[in-house]
Amino acid sequence: NNPLDALHFDNRFVHELPGDPEADNYRRQVYQSCYSRVLPKTVKAPHLVAYSKEMAEQLNLPEAACQSEVFCQVFAGNRLLDGMEPYAMNYGGQQFGHWAGQLGDGRAINLGEVVNRQGRRWTLQLKGAGPTPYSRSADGLAVLRSSIREFLCSEAMHHLGVPTTRALSVILTGEHVVRDMFYDGNPQLEPGAVVCRVAPSFIRFGNFQLFTARDDLETLKQLVDFTIETDFPHLGQPNKAVYLQWFAEICRSTAEMIVHWQRVGFVHGVMNTDNMSILGLTIDYGPYGWLENYDPDWTPNTTDAQGRRYRFGNQPKIAYWNLVQLANALYPLILKAEPLQEALTAFTNTFEQAWQRTLADKLGLTAFDPAGDETLAADLATLLQAAETDMTLFYRGLSAIEATDTVAAFQTHIEACSYAPLSVETQGLAEAWFNTYQTRLRRDKRPQNERQQVMDAVNPLYVLRNYLAQQAIDLAEQGDFGEVWELLEVLRQPYTEQAGKQRFAEKRPDWAKQRAGCSMLSCSS
Ligand code: AMP
Ligand code: MG
Ligand code: MG
Repeated sequence: NNPLDALHFDNRFVHELPGDPEADNYRRQVYQSCYSRVLPKTVKAPHLVAYSKEMAEQLNLPEAACQSEVFCQVFAGNRLLDGMEPYAMNYGGQQFGHWAGQLGDGRAINLGEVVNRQGRRWTLQLKGAGPTPYSRSADGLAVLRSSIREFLCSEAMHHLGVPTTRALSVILTGEHVVRDMFYDGNPQLEPGAVVCRVAPSFIRFGNFQLFTARDDLETLKQLVDFTIETDFPHLGQPNKAVYLQWFAEICRSTAEMIVHWQRVGFVHGVMNTDNMSILGLTIDYGPYGWLENYDPDWTPNTTDAQGRRYRFGNQPKIAYWNLVQLANALYPLILKAEPLQEALTAFTNTFEQAWQRTLADKLGLTAFDPAGDETLAADLATLLQAAETDMTLFYRGLSAIEATDTVAAFQTHIEACSYAPLSVETQGLAEAWFNTYQTRLRRDKRPQNERQQVMDAVNPLYVLRNYLAQQAIDLAEQGDFGEVWELLEVLRQPYTEQAGKQRFAEKRPDWAKQRAGCSMLSCSS
């Protein structure tokens, strides 16, 4: 009896969609196929780093199963369970605004789809399990550093209430991977690792784009129909009208995801169309980062440091741009631009409404009043940027400040959350903003305890600060996984103050500002 017996496979993707007829695993262009079958590479000495008990529970796996040797072997890629039919997906995408042709799962291998006891469908995917036909010039592997980052952030985002792909486990391979982390011409050996990612589907905008770019409308239609039938069954039998409803739904869920990113200060860093989930899930955690000092121009991605295409403040616009590219990919099935244009307004409308609601909640207001609250929010953004204020700590602490408090109390709060001393000018901005906010709170007449509750439910206390992740990685590279577990534990309840966990809710220390891994990262981790 196998501890992973609870996993029941029902692999629709490989059975219902056209696959690559070639079985050999070498780099190539793959046509008229949604995937290629490929086996995970076996590794020398798999060793469990961490697992997510909530994700395991979703898969009906008790914790004992996650601690078993079989679990470690299977999710390192060394062993296949009955029912697993591994494959890599074929997709394309625009990278940094330019069409890049075929990309595909270069280092991701889907093991299969399981249906849990509640009837929920989950695709299990190994990241870093070796080369596929889509690996191009790269090795198909992942290092411990980026694997821990992906594992922790997926689960942290889930607990924050941000739509995301999930992570079941991170496992050391016992092998080393060559990486040139700083592009300084000095490649280093880093410990290799494999993450098991989990999502209802890993289909991206780029899966559809690839077939349209190749004028392969037959495969395009097959993939669209499959996606609607499998992941959007409430829309009914696919037809032209349903395609449009489906696209509008993608616009809405994408808008909602972006609102959550802006709410918690998450910067994805590589919003290429191959990194956009058709389900509106945050996907592909690479050089992402969390805002510390509020700065709409900040990007964690060194590869994007020049153009700053994917900076924090640009994420809503880029999401829209990406949706326009998806609309272009779907155009051949619809052959009319106008209804697609119309559906795209679902993004703008959803974003605007949800963002206003979110701003109101973040500030503790009963409702967003466009008359004055636009300015209130804009002035606050100016203030936070000028004062280099930690976004997370500022909003979290704001709920304790009341309409009856003095300006001095507010200034003390903002000073405590800021990375630079407040200039006279900034103090003036703070005073002016607080006066307006006080007036607004008085007009709102919301009881303080209710206000605080609402604010604390949308303004997290604990986020995966870049330097916290790096500290856990440094220790893990020494063989100590305690900090990974501790972070995972704290991030389970990001909105609840936890005794003895103060060190996870502090400003970034000075040393972390310049350290590699703590602020900037490159794409090729
Ligand atoms: P990303 O920027 O991580 O979304 O990756 C873009 C493309 O490069 C995708 O097709 C990935 O599968 C591929 N890729 C990234 N890293 C590797 C790697 N180490 N080996 C093979 N393919 C990779
Ligand atoms: Mg990607
Ligand atoms: Mg990546």
